[in-house]
Order: sequence, then C-alpha cells, then structure tokens
Amino acid sequence: MPHPRFKRILLKLSGEVLMGNGKLAIDPEVTARVAGEIADVRNAGYELCVVVGGGNIFRGLSAAAKGIERATADYMGMLATVMNALAVQNALETIGVDTRVQSAIPMASVCEPFIRRRAERHLQKGRVVIFAAGVGSPFFTTDSGAALRAAEMKCDALFKGTSVDGVYDADPKKVPDAKRYDTVSFNRVLSDDLKVMDASAVALCRDNNIPIVVFNIREHGNFAAVLSGDGVSTTVQT
Ligand code: UDP
Repeated sequence: MPHPRFKRILLKLSGEVLMGNGKLAIDPEVTARVAGEIADVRNAGYELCVVVGGGNIFRGLSAAAKGIERATADYMGMLATVMNALAVQNALETIGVDTRVQSAIPMASVCEPFIRRRAERHLQKGRVVIFAAGVGSPFFTTDSGAALRAAEMKCDALFKGTSVDGVYDADPKKVPDAKRYDTVSFNRVLSDDLKVMDASAVALCRDNNIPIVVFNIREHGNFAAVLSGDGVSTTVQT
C-alpha cells in the first residue's frame, strides 16, 4: 500500500548501516550508497529528518561493561553519533543535497545546536536535517532520540532503516519458517519483546501515534519503493 499520507518522515539509521563488510567504522562507499537512497526520497518531494546512531564506533553499554563509568561512556557514544552525522552530511552534499546537522550537545564549530523552529525552517526549504547526539543525555539511545525528534518535528512516520526487511515473529536467522509481519501493533511489539527499537522509543511512538516502518536500507531503491507502496517492510501501528 502506498503511503500518500506521509509527507514528513524521520529516518533512523543505526551506525552499523554505515559499515561495509570490512573493518572501517564508516565506509565511504557504503555511506555514499545510503546517501543516494536518502536523496531519491528527498527528490521525490518528501521532507526528511535523519537520526544516526553511533554503534559502529562506540556503544555506552559495552564500554561500561569493561569499566568506563556509564554516563561517561554514553557521552562518548553520543560524540560517535556526531561523527556519523558529519559523514552522512558530507555524502549527501557531495550529491547536491542541502543538509544541516543539529546536535543535542551544542558544538558550535562543528554544527548547529538543536533548535526545533530552526529545523522546521530547514525542512520547509527542502534541506535534510540530520539530528546528532540522540536526546543529549546518557542512559538513552538514538532510538529514543529518533522517537523524540519525530514527535517534536511532527513527522508522519518513523522509518527504521536496518539490514533486515521487517519484523518477524521469530529470529529468521535461527527459525527458517519465521513469518514477517506486514503490520503489527505497538502493544504486540512490546508484549512479545519483538526487536524493533528499544521499548521506550516504541512507547513514545505509540503514545504520539507515529507509525514505525521497518525496512532494509541496504537494498538499492527500497526506501523509495516502500514509500510508493512497492517495497517490503513492516509497519508498527496502533
Ligand atoms: N547515547 C546516549 N544518549 C542518547 C543517544 C545515544 O547516551 O540519547 C549513547 C549510548 O551510549 C549509545 C551510543 O550513544 O550506546 C550510540 O548510540 P546507539 O547505541 O543508539 O546507536 P545505534 O545502535 O543506533 O548505532
């Protein structure tokens, strides 16, 4: 089914989407490919916000398990998301897409601070706004940052670009006949602990009635295809 009701979209990219198969945390070729998918959707007339994670570089929880104080580790993780945001910005601008990066942790020499009204103006001018540093506080994730920004920016949907083509009732890598949902309710995702986004992000989307569309962003053309109704995805909704 096409999504004509979606005009403004927030795309959440996990940091690992920017990794290739090699050892680079940010693979320029892979990042360029992702930027191409974003450009196609922007050029089709959608207003686009992007939130990038940082797990390809640094994850607070893993570092905390190895002895770094949790809050410090989380701030390090947020800084990693700024690096990814700059990489995505660079890749988009290389192909002629105007962008702005706004960080939840002010970093005046590097990017703009998050200012909702300013972000709104960028979107109206056709710029892609990339939100970095999650919510700006430790003990959160960029999934929560994505849900929060989607609500603040009044996005019609949150698109979660991953390396799987939707939400399954079991792990498709372990269970060969696992079934992919076309649609699934927020409450089912939470009660069955389906791996979509972390629970607080899912609850925030539910409470603000923002559908989450899970799709494979590694597949060429799929982001635009899902928006026009031809791609494969799962929609989490009320
Ligand atoms: N993080 C945080 N607060 C936020 C967003 C992120 O503390 O609002 C930290 C946290 O340590 C997290 C890391 O930044 O592990 C990278 O973000 P995330 O794990 O969400 O990235 P992704 O899994 O999407 O690549």
